[in-house]
Amino acid sequence: MNRIYLDNAATTAVAPEVLQTMLPYFTEHYGNPSSVHATGRDARKAIEEGRRQVAAAINAQPQEIYFTAGGSESDNWAIKGAAFANRKKGNHIITTAVEHHAVLHTCAWLEKQGFKVTYLPVDAEGFVTAKQVEDAITDETILITIMTANNEIGTLMPIAEIGEVAKAHKILFHTDAVQAVGAVPLDVKALNVDMLSMSGHKFHGPKGIGALYIRRGVRLDIFMQGGAQERGQRAGTENLAGIVGMGKAIELATTNLPEKAAKIAALRDRLMNGIVERIPDVRINGPKDPSRRLPNNCNVSVRYIEGESMLLRLDLAGIAASSGSACTSGSLDPSHVLLAIGLPHEVAHGSLRMTLGSDTTEADIDAVLDVLPGIVSDLRAMSVLNHETTTVSDETFACPRA
Ligand SMILES: *Cc1c(COP(=O)(O)O)cnc(C)c1O
Repeated sequence: MNRIYLDNAATTAVAPEVLQTMLPYFTEHYGNPSSVHATGRDARKAIEEGRRQVAAAINAQPQEIYFTAGGSESDNWAIKGAAFANRKKGNHIITTAVEHHAVLHTCAWLEKQGFKVTYLPVDAEGFVTAKQVEDAITDETILITIMTANNEIGTLMPIAEIGEVAKAHKILFHTDAVQAVGAVPLDVKALNVDMLSMSGHKFHGPKGIGALYIRRGVRLDIFMQGGAQERGQRAGTENLAGIVGMGKAIELATTNLPEKAAKIAALRDRLMNGIVERIPDVRINGPKDPSRRLPNNCNVSVRYIEGESMLLRLDLAGIAASSGSACTSGSLDPSHVLLAIGLPHEVAHGSLRMTLGSDTTEADIDAVLDVLPGIVSDLRAMSVLNHETTTVSDETFACPRA
């Protein structure tokens, strides 16, 4: 069966060119970058080339890029590192209710260590405003951490405006840009961010490698003790092949990015409009304005049925998607993001996320549009939820075309 992968927000395939670039770093160029001999020096050179590529992609300097083991580690380091380095100045952190768990759980842990955290609410499309951030600032505020792009509903936060506020108040500003890197153009100077998290496997690079941009002059606590790697901030022999792969992947992903993003957005719109046209009682979750939404993100709630059952049926049809509840992870809680935009539990449970990749084709989209309506009507026929048992108002599903 021809498989269609529409779960690129979860992870992406390593690009063939990226893999080819990585392979020699497992075999002939396997040196330890800290060694003085030629084999070690070759490895060091490869790492510095990766650092240059990552820096160039976000308009940073190479010395401002620190390699980590992924997006989660970058988030942990930025937030804990900034919190503890500034503990004498204050104990207050501002974030949002819709962050990735790598941010939310880190903030929750810091609360146990005595920090205070404000979780800003979002509007119906997932946005916070710079004004909300400014209003939340107190004399104790030491860090603002707000994601660039939401991984579930694709909301692009007003990072540059929030950056202005942070700068005016001299408060450190971190952004989790894991979903945004390689999806939309990013410039750390224009965004006024002090720290920015990235992850290789979200843009066709390998898993287990990420980076944290730390603006020159910003001091964080050291993440890992034990060696002089990463300017003494993050010890441990570097993930050489991973760094080489991440560098190549970010370079590929950010080349001609506006053209590629426009192409993906057109396919995404075909998918969203097709769903709205062919399936009654669906609502699009996330921003209506395509310029304020990740180009590859489609998130819909389908009334009267469970997202999980749609996923299983789609999977049988060879289509990989994801849903707004995390039953697979052993929890039946609906997505915190969908609840934060105001969806009732029942509607959040009926959500489906499809995230396109650079290899998604029109034929893939049309295949989904061919099978999804049938899956939905089958499941609705079996569902115990219907227009008589539901407590959800019709307005929730009054859905204009995307
Ligand atoms: C995937 C993701 C992460 C975690 O990145 P890993 O490299 O998988 O640890 C963090 N934040 C966001 C927004 C993500 O989408």
